[in-house]
Amino acid sequence: MAKSPETEHPIKAYGYAARDTSGVLSPLTFSRRATGDKDVRFKVLYCGICHSDLHFAKNEWGMTTYPITPGHEIVGVVTEVGSEVEKFKIGDKVGVGCLVGSCKSCESCSSDLENYCDKQIYTYGGLPYHDGTLTYGGYSDHMVADEHFVLRWPENLPLDSGAPLLCAGITTYSPLRYYGLDKPGMKVGVVGLGGLGHVAIKMAKAFGAEVTVFSTSPAKKEEALEGLKADHFIVSKDTEQMQAAASSLDGIIDTVSANHPIAPLLSVLKPHGKLILVGVPEKPLEIAAFSLIMGRKVVAGSAIGGLKETQEMLDFAAEHGVTADIELISIDYVNTAMDRMLKSDVRYRFVIDVANSLEAP
Ligand code: NAP
Ligand code: ZN
Ligand code: ZN
Repeated sequence: MAKSPETEHPIKAYGYAARDTSGVLSPLTFSRRATGDKDVRFKVLYCGICHSDLHFAKNEWGMTTYPITPGHEIVGVVTEVGSEVEKFKIGDKVGVGCLVGSCKSCESCSSDLENYCDKQIYTYGGLPYHDGTLTYGGYSDHMVADEHFVLRWPENLPLDSGAPLLCAGITTYSPLRYYGLDKPGMKVGVVGLGGLGHVAIKMAKAFGAEVTVFSTSPAKKEEALEGLKADHFIVSKDTEQMQAAASSLDGIIDTVSANHPIAPLLSVLKPHGKLILVGVPEKPLEIAAFSLIMGRKVVAGSAIGGLKETQEMLDFAAEHGVTADIELISIDYVNTAMDRMLKSDVRYRFVIDVANSLEAP
């Protein structure tokens, strides 16, 4: 019979977990493996709340194994390293994003694209992990991970407002680069002004792009233009505003977490424009063939980024002063934070002050 989360590994750990599709999180005691030769063990300091945490906690993608301890925007301080670890020493500040494992030998892994490996292991809810046990994320006291999946934290990057870069940052940086939207003067749209969306604006601006925000929340206009330095703000449900922007953009990063019409977004692309989906609504989106055919438009997707690119992104963010706008919360606020995120009421990322608010059972 399988051992319980509390006894399957030798090292005691604790955190917050959802136990069913209500997604409600409450304290959980579990365990983590001993530090292997290539492993880095670290105390969690901060962890961002990504909308994927909520999709997973509620099993909206049908792939959740309970109990699930979310959290994949994790920053911490190293407390122990294995005998073969080369990149880190005790006391170093480190980050872990969405991945803690991959096969290390397939074509994707050999091209630094562990994020597209068929055998990738998610930071939480990933089965099977080495020995077939479940992975637990960063809403917890500490983590242990193979050093390949651990990021070096740039010295001048804040730990709390930098944490969201480990998912929101790389998920927006990678498609801007890959789809050629990282050039000065590119006209880039960002759809959905939440955690990913607001970082997408900052990344695109750091590349020198002209950024148009598409939002369902007119109340976010002033902040988008003044605080986040977007160039234009369009209420996506306003047909007149949408028509005025017709055929104007080179590419769009769509971060929306819920079902929404994409035909209006395709209409604001120039010919050859690219609509890149990074948000993952629960149900399929609808596309009319004509909306692609007329103008050779492309609908594409992108998932986080490989480890090499994630490090490159952190260094880029440190150099260009890109961080998230955060609301720092204690862990017992996590359920309220999730509810508020679902209502698009977050400016613009919740980050849990784990070290100062998670109490040992
Ligand atoms: P978030 O903070 O909740 O932001 C999502 C934004 O989408 C909201 O703030 C809202 O912006 C807009 N929105 C929400 N419901 C909408 C609706 N019904 N119609 C139109 N717009 C709506 O979420 P997030 O953390 O940025 O994550 C966004 C999505 O990306 C999630 O689905 C998440 O799972 C996914 N994700 C994907 C990857 C990847 O690798 N591809 C990585 C991380 C996250 P406005 O108020 O401005 O309309
Ligand atoms: Zn995420
Ligand atoms: Zn692989």
